[in-house]
Amino acid sequence: MQETIQVLLGLQELDTKIYSVKDELRRLPAERERRRKAIDSRIATRDELDSELRRLHLQIKEVDMDTSQSRQKVRKYDGEMNDTTDGVIVASLQHQIRTLKRDISQAEEESLEAMAAAEELTEKRALVEAQITEDETVFAEFETNMKAEMAAAEILLAELLAKREKRLTGDLDREVVDVYERRLDAREGMALSMLDGRTCTMCHMQVPANLSVRIARGSELVLCPSCDRILYLPQ
Ligand SMILES: [Zn+2]
Repeated sequence: MQETIQVLLGLQELDTKIYSVKDELRRLPAERERRRKAIDSRIATRDELDSELRRLHLQIKEVDMDTSQSRQKVRKYDGEMNDTTDGVIVASLQHQIRTLKRDISQAEEESLEAMAAAEELTEKRALVEAQITEDETVFAEFETNMKAEMAAAEILLAELLAKREKRLTGDLDREVVDVYERRLDAREGMALSMLDGRTCTMCHMQVPANLSVRIARGSELVLCPSCDRILYLPQ
């Protein structure tokens, strides 16, 4: 059994590396996804600002068209007033001109407000755009590095798996390997745990005294009653 534990420890050493490489292979694309989403959300913000700006510019244009029409009318009524001496008509034209002038000054105010808002949004948009450009540069760099890291990790993983395969072709009992591999999967890549005195070094629980005796006897695989890992004694 001591020999079996030695082989399992060798396997565990490889599997720890394999798990960490696999972790890296999962972590990198997740990190890429997270970064991409952050930039896409900024792009969405910029697009919203763009559509708000388009709306404001359209509004300004419409208001300007309305006021220029109103001004034309004022000029027309002014002309009509000069052509008549009829007091009723003059009073009516004067009233219409007053109303139009009031509308014009209101529209001018509206237009100014919209222009100020558009100016503010344009500044905001420039900041967002600059941030996007910066983010995209960093992202492109990350992606290049990531591709290189992933490729290296894939190569390392293949090497480790080949090494592992070789170790398993030894005279290791298939049942022992099964016990080991089940724990490996269930315990995030750590199937073995050293006993320090009576303490399991992985889960830090005390094991019953008879367990260390059974391990020392070395005739069977002994599992930690708490974390279920294969226990072994320090060499
Ligand atoms: Zn334990």
